[in-house]
Amino acid sequence: MNMARNTENLLDLRLSDLEAYFVSIGAKPFNARQAYKWIWQKDVLDVDEMTDLPKTLRQTLKENNTLQEPSLGEIQRSKDGTTKLQVVLQDGQAVECVLIPESQRNTLCISSQVGCAVGCRFCYTAGMGFSRNLTVSEIVGQYRLASRYAAEPWGRIDNVVMMGMGEPLYNLEAVVDACDILMDTNALGLGARKVTVSTSGVAPKIPELIERSRVGLAVSLNATTDEQRTKIMPINRKWNIAQLVEQLQKIPKPRRKRVFLEYVMLGGINDTMADAKRLLSIARRTGAKVNLIRFNPHPKADFLSPEEENVLQFQKFLVDNGVGAWLRKSRGQDIHAACGMLGKADKVR
Ligand code: SAH
Ligand code: SF4
Repeated sequence: MNMARNTENLLDLRLSDLEAYFVSIGAKPFNARQAYKWIWQKDVLDVDEMTDLPKTLRQTLKENNTLQEPSLGEIQRSKDGTTKLQVVLQDGQAVECVLIPESQRNTLCISSQVGCAVGCRFCYTAGMGFSRNLTVSEIVGQYRLASRYAAEPWGRIDNVVMMGMGEPLYNLEAVVDACDILMDTNALGLGARKVTVSTSGVAPKIPELIERSRVGLAVSLNATTDEQRTKIMPINRKWNIAQLVEQLQKIPKPRRKRVFLEYVMLGGINDTMADAKRLLSIARRTGAKVNLIRFNPHPKADFLSPEEENVLQFQKFLVDNGVGAWLRKSRGQDIHAACGMLGKADKVR
């Protein structure tokens, strides 16, 4: 086990870390598997209810550990069903996650940090600044809270995207462990194709994510020249488009099927056919598919939404030239829950 891990809150631990911790306190690895199932599959957080654990072990856990998850704050439901949940953390700060029920599936968009340090010009979250990283239990805790909330009206959450607040690759350790718990069949059991992590382009961390986790990857490209991209995403000064392309090309072929380029269309800025041509070339070179997102307007950014005609033409051009390209629906705009709109309720206390 990585000894740097804090073992106090059992909800921060993957199965292998829980096993190592249990062994270190004189318990058996299979006791860890039992506890793990209580926590993640039976939704039990009271050690006394974990009836198959030896009494002495239960006592030790009660004395030395917590089973702490965040709590549910304010809930807002959009007219389209999209529901924004405020998730209140132990220290009184809060993040948001967004539940998107659809006929075929239920998607949950979760956050990885309180605020964000990247400062993209079009993103509402950027205006909050950065406060801190989320822990494993705070990341997966969003899924726990949202699952309970969704169960009755919509059923199981089968798809998770880490596209809420924060830059996941700046919190890689916790993100990798959280994804492990989401996908582990002994825990939440989501298929690897059902979990996607989105990055604004922390190029040097991409190989590490790919190596350490089976998740899908989305890269927020958002522009096709460095000049354009630097203007809207200051992170491009650190890692430019060529560096991103290079890292994506290193991803083993089978994994590249689950690599997406996210492209926020800003009216009059990056929505021309010249952009479409350059995007086509980047998609071809990386083997990635494209998700087009219409800019969601908000008071902190003075960009315009693209003309619908441009959006459709842009998409058609990519598809006609053999690159998979989808138009992401902007849901939950009325409750500030659509892409790039999170962050209203950053503090509750
Ligand atoms: N920080 C990560 C993940 C969260 S942002 C990242 O940037 O990838 C999720 C997506 O929303 C990104 O693709 C981002 O480019 C997009 N986005 C941000 N602000 C937006 C806005 N106002 N309208 C539409 N999409 C936006
Ligand atoms: Fe951060 Fe992503 Fe928003 Fe950029 S788009 S400021 S990386 S949350």
